[in-house]
Amino acid sequence: MHRCQCVVVGGGVAGLCASILLCRAGVDAVVLEHRENPEKKVCAGGLSGRSLHLLSRMGMPFDAGRAVTRIELNVVPHHYNRFVTKTPLARVADRKTINRWMMGHARDAGVRVIRGAATRRVEHDGRRFTVRTDRGDFSAPCIIGADGAVSRTRKSLGGSEPRMARALIAEKVEVSRPLDAAIFDYDALPMGYGWVFPTSETTANVGVFTISPMGGAELRERLYFYTSQRLGGVRFASPVKGGILPWGGCRLDKKLPALLVGDAGGYTDPFTGEGIFQALATAGHAAAAVVSNPPHKVRRAFERRMALFSANVRLLKRLGPLALKNARAIGRLGETGLFSRVFFSSQVRGQYYLGMAASAPAWLARSLLRRDVVHREHERNVPLHLQSMKPDLQN
Ligand SMILES: Cc1cc2nc3c(=O)[nH]c(=O)nc-3n(C[C@H](O)[C@H](O)[C@H](O)COP(=O)(O)OP(=O)(O)OC[C@H]3O[C@@H](n4cnc5c(N)ncnc54)[C@H](O)[C@@H]3O)c2cc1C
Repeated sequence: MHRCQCVVVGGGVAGLCASILLCRAGVDAVVLEHRENPEKKVCAGGLSGRSLHLLSRMGMPFDAGRAVTRIELNVVPHHYNRFVTKTPLARVADRKTINRWMMGHARDAGVRVIRGAATRRVEHDGRRFTVRTDRGDFSAPCIIGADGAVSRTRKSLGGSEPRMARALIAEKVEVSRPLDAAIFDYDALPMGYGWVFPTSETTANVGVFTISPMGGAELRERLYFYTSQRLGGVRFASPVKGGILPWGGCRLDKKLPALLVGDAGGYTDPFTGEGIFQALATAGHAAAAVVSNPPHKVRRAFERRMALFSANVRLLKRLGPLALKNARAIGRLGETGLFSRVFFSSQVRGQYYLGMAASAPAWLARSLLRRDVVHREHERNVPLHLQSMKPDLQN
């Protein structure tokens, strides 16, 4: 039996981030990662402005990948909203690069990552957790569950299941004309969107996301349909892969000093599909709670630190589906340019939606005065290629 102060289950973004912060603060933590090669996670690699902001604050500034200074938030075929900014609104990097770079920070911080240690069961005897893995048993008074969407930690400890969104992605397609903007096309499929993230002048990753209970075969058909409508003739240079994105949060016995972070906690954003920011933010709160509290107070401290974040999750649980259902209204808001100024300015400063709403008047005033923060590129009419885009396969 290996004993330590805190076991972190899962060596993805959330698990590595939490363990880096713990080890830097002198906590004896171990990361249990079930894959020999955890770089293979299916992901579009979009690091939003707020992820970049948070990473800088955590002492891990990220400047790899492609800076995104143009973004399209369209509602097809009705609204075309294209924004440009001097400060990068996001970065797109492949997930291998993100994971390797995170692993580098983990090595620098002296994090112990045990690979091939698939967690089978987690038990709690009232004082300590015992984590049973393929590489032996690990015991600690605190546990951070960062083992992704199908979390074994969550299941073992009796946590409720979050809701699940689905996405399909082709990580590399070769395009015939250069792309200069990251594109979100809402309503390209029901309760969801299609995206195109340029990764170089001539390549991009393309995908579809939905919170509707759509079957795998239909989603695949929609991805091909969307890609052909959006980009015309492209060559798929990588296979199409699927993934699930848990949202809406989950409930876990309040007496357990167990902290669920990232996808394990069900924290992805049901409107944007973003999950890396949420993984980093919750991991940061978990590490801070473990560092400055005795084990029996850790859970409470975590809940307190998470108060604003959790309120945001509850809000999104209601508003996310509503917004997806009424994407046209959001698109109209976007057309005013004001909504997006607040949204993007707040994004690059790392705010949650609730924080954005509270400080909207101040951001608005500031971004109107400083037009370089973000402005709408002028094109009053929806371009032809979007007007002819059919949102529904049947039409
Ligand atoms: C197609 C797709 C595209 C996406 N694109 C984006 C994007 O562009 N931007 C964005 O912000 N988010 C995106 N997301 C969401 C984002 O990838 C996740 O929200 C984020 O990776 C969550 O990080 P995590 O560390 O919680 O989980 P993960 O990254 O899934 O890490 C979990 C880790 O736990 C390990 N593990 C699992 N089970 C066990 C076990 N039993 N024992 C030990 N280890 C275990 C796994 O091997 C893995 O390494 C996308 C998701 C999908 C599916």
